[in-house]
Amino acid sequence: MLSTEQILEVMSGQGLRITDQRKTLAKLFGENKGYLSAKDVYEHMGRKYSGLSFDTVYRNLRVMEELGVLEQIVFEDGVKFKGSCNHQDHHHHMICLQCEKTYPINFCPMNLTDTPDQFRVVKHKFEVFGYCKECEENREEELVAAANHKKGV
Ligand SMILES: [Zn+2]
Ligand SMILES: [Zn+2]
Ligand SMILES: [Zn+2]
Repeated sequence: MLSTEQILEVMSGQGLRITDQRKTLAKLFGENKGYLSAKDVYEHMGRKYSGLSFDTVYRNLRVMEELGVLEQIVFEDGVKFKGSCNHQDHHHHMICLQCEKTYPINFCPMNLTDTPDQFRVVKHKFEVFGYCKECEENREEELVAAANHKKGV
């Protein structure tokens, strides 16, 4: 994942003014390994900057995503953001729905899709959702506990 410094470097390299708010945003994503919704970010920012509007926060998230320092993933409960991966090679993600840890998938299925020639592809997304080993084990334990509880064990 990109560090706070790397995020700021890309932002200033693209001519973005590095305001105190943007520094705080970069630090938030540089240090947070999970996914954050715009509302999470807004709440975090609101503690430091009173009177900050949700629109301003959202605009900054959009800009950061366009610059490639943030990744945007659509979860069932909405769009969430995370700092982009560090490695340059094209890859995709496998995401644990429980702990939101992200694992790289190096295979790209794009060439296997039947996109017509007259359609110019500019980008594509491919994400796999599931449960990592640790979370799966915890889930099984919980299911067993719940079943036993029902049976009155
Ligand atoms: Zn990645
Ligand atoms: Zn997990
Ligand atoms: Zn791909």
